[in-house]
Amino acid sequence: MAETTAPSASSEPSPTPKSAPGSALSSDDLERLRVTILVASSSRVNGNHPFGSVLTDAAGTVVLEAENTVVTARDATGHAETNLVRLASSRYSPAELADFTLYTSTEPCAMCSGAIYWAGIGRVVFALAEADLYAITGENEENPTMRLPCREVFAAGQRETAVAGPAPELHAEATAVHAGFWG
Ligand SMILES: [Zn+2]
Repeated sequence: MAETTAPSASSEPSPTPKSAPGSALSSDDLERLRVTILVASSSRVNGNHPFGSVLTDAAGTVVLEAENTVVTARDATGHAETNLVRLASSRYSPAELADFTLYTSTEPCAMCSGAIYWAGIGRVVFALAEADLYAITGENEENPTMRLPCREVFAAGQRETAVAGPAPELHAEATAVHAGFWG
């Protein structure tokens, strides 16, 4: 019975804003990042590293998704973003991809940022910062995380790649998918 008369005794001072302060992420961005974390979880279940990415077209529709395949494909370049870029480049031109967005559970490494740049994908949104991943993986030989923010890679390019992230509101979820994985 309490449910029908429950006062709004939430400790939250206000509803979730459309765009979180500091992150510049819309509610749609956050929704798609949650999907990348689900893809990362699936990647882990499938025997690979817990990373996932999705691609949206100019209309915001998810058109592709990719898991990490480093372990099962025995491919050191099988990061989720690079796998996604490979698929995207085979289907879309750079002119089309300029209006697409790549969402990813963790900030793209230098290799993946390079792949995203060469494909011409116009925007990247990530949930967990690479520095936070570094704190999780440490010096794990399976994932010797680089300390190079993707913005620095993109800044060296000749065309602009918009970047948004990390997403503080998804920090717990984006971290949880790595829990216990890296020892
Ligand atoms: Zn990568």
